[in-house]
This record gives sequence, C-alpha cells and structure tokens, in this order.
Amino acid sequence: MRVQWVELDAVALTQRCYPGKYKPNEAAPGLHGCFEFRLGANCIIYTLPLAARPTEREYHETAGHELHHCRDGYFHDDELFIPGPRKQRPGERPR
Ligand SMILES: [Zn+2]
Repeated sequence: MRVQWVELDAVALTQRCYPGKYKPNEAAPGLHGCFEFRLGANCIIYTLPLAARPTEREYHETAGHELHHCRDGYFHDDELFIPGPRKQRPGERPR
C-alpha cells in the first residue's frame, strides 16, 4: 500500500474530511486528520501541519492513528472520518 501525506490548514482540512458539513470558512472543532482510500490501494492522509499542533507528540499521535486507518480501514463508529474499506465486525453483515 502507498501512503500519501497531505497537510492542510484547519479550514481546508474540514472541507476535505467533512465535505458539505461545514460552512466554507468554518473549521471543525477538534479535527486532527482523516484518511481516504483511492484506487490502486493508495491511502491518503490529510492532517494539520506540525506548526498548527499544540505539541509534536500530538502530531505524531495523529500520524499513527491515521496510519492505523490505512492498515485496518474504518475502526471507530463515530462516522466522523471518510470511510475506507472496513473490516467486518463479529455478527455484522457485509456491506
Ligand atoms: Zn480515526
């Protein structure tokens, strides 16, 4: 799998991660990043730049979280992120 890393400011990141959910100049509170799968097993991570983070540690934690998504697909239920190919949970019907 190829991973592409794209850093965006908070407003651009909001538009990328929550298309149509916020006003064009509005930033989603607490948004750190999201991921998207493209054809050919490319995983694109969108995130705030290091300079926009409270700490470098927080930046790397987001990097690890989004890379986890690239490896495993969709793994939390909050519907906040662009879903990738997700794993089937026990008892869940395929979709
Ligand atoms: Zn996530």
